[in-house]
Amino acid sequence: MTIQQNEFTKWYIETIQNADLMDYTPVRGCIAFKPDGYEIWEHIQAEMDYHFKETGHRNAYFPMLIPESFFQKEKDHIEGFSPELPWVTEAAGEQLEERLALRPTSETMIGYLYSNWIKSYRDLPLLLNQWANVFRWEKKTLPFIRTSEFLWQEGHTAHGDEEEARHETLQMLDIYKKVVENLLAIPVFDGTKTESERFAGAIDTFSIEAMMKDGKAVQAGTSHYLGTKFAEAFNIKYLNKNNQHDYVHTTSWGTSTRLIGSVIMVHGDERGLVLPPKIAPTQVVLIPVGPFKKHPEILEKLDDLYKVLKAKGIRVKLDDSDLTPGFKFNKWEQKGASLRVEFGPRDFQNNQVVIKIRDEEEKITVALDRFMDVIEEELKVMQKRLLEKARQFRDANSHVTIDSLQQLQDHITQSKANKNIPGWILAGWCGSNICEQKVKDETKFTSRNIPFNPPIKKSNCIYCGNEAKHTVWFARAY
Ligand SMILES: [Zn+2]
Repeated sequence: MTIQQNEFTKWYIETIQNADLMDYTPVRGCIAFKPDGYEIWEHIQAEMDYHFKETGHRNAYFPMLIPESFFQKEKDHIEGFSPELPWVTEAAGEQLEERLALRPTSETMIGYLYSNWIKSYRDLPLLLNQWANVFRWEKKTLPFIRTSEFLWQEGHTAHGDEEEARHETLQMLDIYKKVVENLLAIPVFDGTKTESERFAGAIDTFSIEAMMKDGKAVQAGTSHYLGTKFAEAFNIKYLNKNNQHDYVHTTSWGTSTRLIGSVIMVHGDERGLVLPPKIAPTQVVLIPVGPFKKHPEILEKLDDLYKVLKAKGIRVKLDDSDLTPGFKFNKWEQKGASLRVEFGPRDFQNNQVVIKIRDEEEKITVALDRFMDVIEEELKVMQKRLLEKARQFRDANSHVTIDSLQQLQDHITQSKANKNIPGWILAGWCGSNICEQKVKDETKFTSRNIPFNPPIKKSNCIYCGNEAKHTVWFARAY
């Protein structure tokens, strides 16, 4: 499939439109999620939510409007977010006394409330999550990947000490990694963000990073250790066991609907959407073929199969519309249905069905008495295969032998000439913001993260050549 950048974006937009996942609206950068797009999000939500609750978190909801004065309390936070904030300035025909921002994230509102809710060590840890929409007025937008309004979850926790808060931060990153790999079949690198890429107001930001089919990176989830910065800004203090007042240590962590965009960019192909079965709105589509209208037994049998699959909890559709089989095949491939089952008079005679697996070339013929076993097995195998394919692709495009800016520039030039993607590079970094910025200015490669487990350790900074403090993934990123 095409991987040139402008063509990839065009392919991406066509794919999500053909799959009927979203629509544009008259509000710039704000999309409507159509049912199939929203259902993918619901599957992600369900799995995330299960793990949040397993680890002791509960859901709550906070207001979408945040007073301007709240943002002023944490200076890094306002600096980081103010350029993208939309404001409400009047209501009921009158100017508001104080402007209200449409939330870009909720640390400030939650900080204000936690200062009332937390009084003693008995109130800790406080482990809450919110499922909500947030706003960041983006200049350049791309459906699901970067929009002015998006859906996400934001966890906000408060702890008695640093050790516990740091443990929480990494625990949640690990949950993200597992869900993204096991549910979305997207392999990720987990690691620490450099200072310049840190969340506005965080002491440490950790991320999971995924590679798209055009070689660009998507930050698929982040988890922040906020130290006592927000506690000090909002005066969140508790009485400890020694009867002394202490600031709490807070964390926040989030994943968003850009995971939908990522899953499309990682698995999609020239025929359209390819979805891991665990999140596919349609796992099996049943399609009558041949002169089935003259044989009522065909639709009767398909109806039986439909009921058996449905009873097993499989998301199944029976497409008995009057479109041609070829048109239906194309439509359900575009929509990313995992398995297509074809059944006609000849199959009826032979007691068999023909199955086409979305990401495989060959069709398979299956005896009807093995139908259910094969369906369940193929869904499981496809889920695993997609992760494996994505891992192979990522590893083939992760370069670990580039050690200077010149080598990186040559690599980019060569990739372009050979119509390859430049992918990611693992390089040493001395820790200076200037070196990081220079790499970005000259190649558009930005630091993704400092991986917890780098495949190899680098000894020299890619820009200045001095001793490397860190080994960093660099890539172009969405
Ligand atoms: Zn350097």
